Amino acid sequence: MLSASCHCGAVQIEVPRRPRALTNCNCSMCRRYGVLWAYYRDKDVRLIAPEGAIDDYSWGRNTQRFIRCKTCGCVMQWKKHAVDAQSWTGVNARNFDPEALGDVRIKLLDGAKTWKYVG
Ligand SMILES: [Zn+2]
Repeated sequence: MLSASCHCGAVQIEVPRRPRALTNCNCSMCRRYGVLWAYYRDKDVRLIAPEGAIDDYSWGRNTQRFIRCKTCGCVMQWKKHAVDAQSWTGVNARNFDPEALGDVRIKLLDGAKTWKYVG
């Protein structure tokens, strides 16, 4: 198990294991957030937040919501609006302790144009 928190500590997130790779995406959202995504099954990720501690953002016909701490603004996770047992979720690996994360490969996703991995 690996856990992380936002900067102020109000919101925590737990994942079952270290990610094998991280995704650095340059889509309109990710490049602004400056996040690195670790992907898991939604059911394996636990977001722990007191009532009212989180906010989220979605836009247009997007099916995901980007969840952040209301106090310090750290982006914690993206989640599908409609979650089922097969759903994937992205956890922002920037919130993990870099030492706990270790030497993880970072893959580049061209979300700006092709939605393909380019490195
Ligand atoms: Zn916070």
